[in-house]
Amino acid sequence: QPIVELDGVSKTYGHGDTRVRALKNINVSLYKGQFTSIMGPSGSGKSTMLHVIAGLDNPTRGTITVDGVDITHLKDKQLTELRRSRIGFIFQSFNLVPTINVLDNIMLPTQLSGTKVDMQWLKKVVDSLGLTTRLKHRPSELSGGQQQRVAVARALVSRPAIIVADEPTGNLDSKTSDEVLAILRQAVDEFGQTVIMVTHNPSVAKVSDRVVVVADGTIKADMVGATPEQVI
Ligand code: ADP
Ligand code: ADP
Repeated sequence: QPIVELDGVSKTYGHGDTRVRALKNINVSLYKGQFTSIMGPSGSGKSTMLHVIAGLDNPTRGTITVDGVDITHLKDKQLTELRRSRIGFIFQSFNLVPTINVLDNIMLPTQLSGTKVDMQWLKKVVDSLGLTTRLKHRPSELSGGQQQRVAVARALVSRPAIIVADEPTGNLDSKTSDEVLAILRQAVDEFGQTVIMVTHNPSVAKVSDRVVVVADGTIKADMVGATPEQVI
């Protein structure tokens, strides 16, 4: 059974002359323990796809099933609960809380969901993202790249079943970018988590098991075990 399933999903923004069909009848199943990259040109619908999967936005048509639950008919409260218990977010727009330190930011989702934290895993995540000496700092005392790594750590500590990431290495130098991808890879390989990542960078997508190419709101290619260069 797929952990995420999109069945006839369409998303239209606006109406009349300003109508934009961001997703057009998307059918796709993603499986547990799979690292999927969503690629495609700017404006092709990648972020919209990630948003509807994560229950941040409703599709106009179709059904989305997450971990066996049809999320298209959930009430806001149930959606929030599902996100907290099952999904880790690495989004550039998901800001850190400025008034609390890095460690508290990282622990926030587990506190909200009441998840017990594996301290060894926390230490490993923080260490491999180079944040160990920054835990007591406020986010504003960190560079942009460090703040992004805090967001990665925050998404990983509770070991959510699904991690959705929108350009998680977008502002990072290549060394830091490799570290972030390695820890995401580890989340999949060691803990069977499912990663769904939007990227436009083929060398970033190389880390994934599957590449779904979106263009103009439809899936143009869907390849398991292929290199991104072969796909685009
Ligand atoms: P990508 O992530 O591939 O760049 P998006 O999913 O962000 O693509 O956007 C797909 C299309 O939907 C684009 O034409 C974009 O302009 C439009 N779009 C995205 N979000 C909105 C919105 N909130 N309101 C209106 N149009 C939107
Ligand atoms: P990166 O984003 O790859 O971490 P930067 O070039 O942005 O690196 O920053 C280099 C170093 O400067 C960082 O390791 C960080 O310690 C420090 N730094 C950058 N911006 C700030 C800031 N606003 N406050 C404190 N230290 C900063």
